[in-house]
Amino acid sequence: MAKKEPNFLGSVQQYFDKAAPHTGLHAGLLAQIRHCNAIYRMNFPVKFGNEYRIIEAYRVQHSHHRTPTKGGIRYSNHVNQEEVMALATLMSYKCAIVDVPFGGAKGGVKINPWELTTFQREKVTRRYTMELINRNFIGPAIDVPAPDYGTGSQEMAWIYDTYRTFKGSDIDAAGCVTGKPANLNGIKGRVEATGRGVYYGIRSVVDQAKDMKKIGLTAGIAGKTMIIQGLGNVGSYTAKISQDEGGALIVGVAEVEGVIYNPKGMDIHKIIAYRQEHGTFLGFPGATTELAKEDRWYGLDFECDILVPAALENQITVENADRIQAKIIAEAANGPITADGEKILLKKGKVIIPDLFLNAGGVTVSYFEWLKNLSHMRFGRMDKRFNQNTYMNLLNKVEEMTGKTVGIQEKIFLTRGGDEIDLVRSGLEETMVTAYGQIREIMNKKKKVNDLRTAAFVSAIQKMGSDYLAMGIFP
Ligand code: GLU
Repeated sequence: MAKKEPNFLGSVQQYFDKAAPHTGLHAGLLAQIRHCNAIYRMNFPVKFGNEYRIIEAYRVQHSHHRTPTKGGIRYSNHVNQEEVMALATLMSYKCAIVDVPFGGAKGGVKINPWELTTFQREKVTRRYTMELINRNFIGPAIDVPAPDYGTGSQEMAWIYDTYRTFKGSDIDAAGCVTGKPANLNGIKGRVEATGRGVYYGIRSVVDQAKDMKKIGLTAGIAGKTMIIQGLGNVGSYTAKISQDEGGALIVGVAEVEGVIYNPKGMDIHKIIAYRQEHGTFLGFPGATTELAKEDRWYGLDFECDILVPAALENQITVENADRIQAKIIAEAANGPITADGEKILLKKGKVIIPDLFLNAGGVTVSYFEWLKNLSHMRFGRMDKRFNQNTYMNLLNKVEEMTGKTVGIQEKIFLTRGGDEIDLVRSGLEETMVTAYGQIREIMNKKKKVNDLRTAAFVSAIQKMGSDYLAMGIFP
């Protein structure tokens, strides 16, 4: 990134400042919404073998306009206070956009998780959780962590177990963290949630024929060419679901080892299987072009309709924005485009689907998991059979009245009630479609709001603002 560019937090604040004048809110209220409310920075010792490591870690709560606060925990060597602040800030706006009733938060632990043993990761995770408990920075009504870059369901299980050990009398203890394993008070569909949400979000955008015409594309996701940067949790599910359910063509994949490309499309399942077997996708037989990683924007500038950065922040900057050929950039990661990079892209007429809307599927399903934990019951338990019987009665009546019968397999399919996974997916789809409708309406109504990110920020700020106004603290 060029020196003169703002950092990640600076970019997020620039986006906020661009949107703020369109919200009609008082300057004092806007300042409150913009600031991070609480920052806890800690250094704690962990013994690895005979060596002591002092670990730097953070938990930032950006906004308490709703509680608990919510957001993932990142394990990475690049973690720093301003990065965690930027991520916590985005969480508040993300939750507001998808009507998830939480304030935003984020955690960061400055370690390289891939360098540590499972036992070492467990030690760090449990100690970090104890620090949070000590400062009242975790709890089902206070602040609820979740997975992020470098963490997953295993870390969440350790957090839950540590919390439960100290707060055993809290009947809602399971709601202290989300993204837990499905068989340990987690929810089905959480692992795929962010990627699935990204798919629903992209689909909502490309289904608008008028908007697509402006950038020379036809409506619909089927047949659209896609490049994915990052095959972690978010990137891999985005690619799989876009290919399998949407009919998109995965023409390129970029990862630490480099990029593979084939303009006719490659099967994402085969790429992932090949990479698992060989430790790299270089050499994948389906690719026509491959490039070992040689510069920092490897693969991002290849030709495609939709570029999906699904890795880390600051990937598209003033240095490479000009080279991007994709017509749509879908921000599956948080902050992959810098504010200055975005200016170049917008000038060239690119459609940017912004992170604070597009990757909100993760926190949406976290919300479902938290609700499940508080209700102590899985979704579908009360109504699945009831619905099934009702549909069956209806279908039987139709058969009786028409004298025609439906095959037994089809009958079972037509009358089935929703299981947990069906309800989670349906709730997620509804959430993403509704949120996009609101963002698009802001673009249509406000003549000076010309891009999706600004519209998404306006949506978030207005919703947060109306919470503060209802409290009667601001004019
Ligand atoms: N880390 C995810 C995000 O950036 C999920 C947060 C959550 O589920 O609370 O949105």
